[in-house]
Amino acid sequence: MTDCLFCKIIAGDIPSNKVYEDDLVFAFRDINPQAPTHILVVPKEHIASAADITKNNSAVIAHIFEVIPQIAKSEGLKNGFRVITNSGPDACQSVHHIHFHILGGEQMSDKMA
Ligand code: AMP
Ligand code: ZN
Repeated sequence: MTDCLFCKIIAGDIPSNKVYEDDLVFAFRDINPQAPTHILVVPKEHIASAADITKNNSAVIAHIFEVIPQIAKSEGLKNGFRVITNSGPDACQSVHHIHFHILGGEQMSDKMA
């Protein structure tokens, strides 16, 4: 997608603080961190949101959930972490390329919303 912020970050057209990359996945630090560690993990394929996951594209989502524990380990998140994906306006999704927030490095609230 030419008009997608995260597609531009993946392509290197917009700079990012990359923490992980492979053939399918790109991960980088959130520009406005909401925890001491705040990383976004995205598929290189443009999928708009969790509402758009189907049988045909879910393999990359499974792969993301293999990558997440590797990133958490390399970031030293020994005491745990939270994974969030916002989908659609009720969830305040602001970038319409699916992304998984990894949040950690502090004790978080027991409330999620
Ligand atoms: P969401 O609100 O779930 O769609 O999350 C979008 C996230 O993207 C927010 O946490 C933003 O801080 C983050 N973000 C927006 N622009 C950039 C950027 N250029 N580099 C890194 N993170 C960004
Ligand atoms: Zn995109």
